[in-house]
Amino acid sequence: MMCLSRINPYVSLTLFKHYKQLYVCLNQLKNEAMELIIDNLSKTYSNGIKALQNISLEIPTGMFGLLGPNGAGKSTLMRTIATLQEADSGSIFLGEIDILKQKNELRQVLGYLPQQFGLYPKISAEVLLNHFAVLKGISNKSERQELVKALLQKTNLYEVRKQNLKGYSGGMKQRFGIAQALLNNPKLLIVDEPTAGLDPVERNRFYNVLSELGEHTVVILSTHIVDDVKELCTNMAIINQGQVCLKGNPVQIIEDLKGKVYKKTIEKPELILYKQNYQVISEKLFLGKPTIHVLSDNNPGDGFIGVNADLEDVYFSQIFNNTNLYSN
Ligand code: ADP
Repeated sequence: MMCLSRINPYVSLTLFKHYKQLYVCLNQLKNEAMELIIDNLSKTYSNGIKALQNISLEIPTGMFGLLGPNGAGKSTLMRTIATLQEADSGSIFLGEIDILKQKNELRQVLGYLPQQFGLYPKISAEVLLNHFAVLKGISNKSERQELVKALLQKTNLYEVRKQNLKGYSGGMKQRFGIAQALLNNPKLLIVDEPTAGLDPVERNRFYNVLSELGEHTVVILSTHIVDDVKELCTNMAIINQGQVCLKGNPVQIIEDLKGKVYKKTIEKPELILYKQNYQVISEKLFLGKPTIHVLSDNNPGDGFIGVNADLEDVYFSQIFNNTNLYSN
């Protein structure tokens, strides 16, 4: 071991500077690697509904998809993480911040786009975003103007920045919501059901905006739309009835279903029979006839053909199937 006191003062000062730099770098790395850790989180509403039952998730930086049907508990979880409601038990940490206890600390680094939010219809996006920036404490005018401009460009609203929000489409409003959620350069961004009600073109534009984020931020995208997760997320979880049924990397999760999904086009009246005899995970109409997907370890024969499983198969196998194909 080298002892600092035995070497000359100039060398020790230089070494000290190097150590200090190293310390700063390590701290930066630590900040970049920030994770959201949810541990055993539970919530029962006063009407007895168990909205969250021992939810545990580790969410790294990047885009995380929380997928589940309506009523699964997604909003309850999002609102709890965003410090808008209390849990009964469990904990949530963002890095060092104990979210359930240090609400103000979390709010300083949080961006939140709720399912529904009101906008002042009679002013332009540029004016309203500038107003929100003032409320967030960005007092330097030129700094604020630069930020507002950058965010309007990032969300593809710069060309329509002078238009009143009343004339904005659903997709434009959602993108404005993202712009305001990014004002404080958040470390945690929560986006709750952002694409519900958007047409495919608007949904795509919204995906493009979201895909630009995420590298140094924990982004949680809560949705019941499988495509949202398929297009954007590097990690995901499926929740149903307040419980996590599956979590992991979407590519790996799909890989686990390989060779287990078969399809067949049938007649409508046969559907009940097939549901009795097979593990039917989805049914879709194709040219007016139902095409069913079933789960099976082996080819069931009977006219079924194997298909490449996709995330929709994974999702439906979890939501509509009681058998526990994957265990956590
Ligand atoms: P999701 O966002 O996945 O649709 P929610 O978190 O909104 O699910 O709801 C989960 C369950 O909790 C649902 O059964 C819902 O009816 C119920 N719920 C949500 N909010 C309340 C509330 N404030 N009081 C009572 N029950 C609620």
